Amino acid sequence: MSPNGDASSGRPLCHCGVPAYLWNSWTSANFGRKWYGCVNYKKPGDCGLFEWADHEMCIYEKSLMERLKDKEEGMRVEIARLEKLMETESTKYKANMESQFSQFQLQLDLYQTKEKAYQSREKLYQAALVFIILLLLFYVCGYNNNSSCEMC
Ligand SMILES: [Zn+2]
Repeated sequence: MSPNGDASSGRPLCHCGVPAYLWNSWTSANFGRKWYGCVNYKKPGDCGLFEWADHEMCIYEKSLMERLKDKEEGMRVEIARLEKLMETESTKYKANMESQFSQFQLQLDLYQTKEKAYQSREKLYQAALVFIILLLLFYVCGYNNNSSCEMC
């Protein structure tokens, strides 16, 4: 370690005696320009160190950084819009699926009810058929009681 900084990292020492922190500037005039400052910058114990790490940007670099900043802001807005759209569409899709599922459940219930009614009707028809056959047998046997019935 040198008296003016941390030789291993190349960072200067701040007034606190520890290697300074490398910060990024977000101001319009120096957007993206790196600088050394106290690790406690804007906190209790900030020793107030300020030293540019990057050279001052030329007009072209500043213009380029300004455009990048604008593009980044535009992308943040677009991401927020897409996230909101995705949430809205997801909610719609979920509601639609739930509605379709409810309709399917209703149709299934209706089908099962019809199936039960059909089975009950089938049993009733079978019982009626058996009853009619028995009635005919008794009638035929009763009618031919005096004569010789081949079935009796
Ligand atoms: Zn400090």
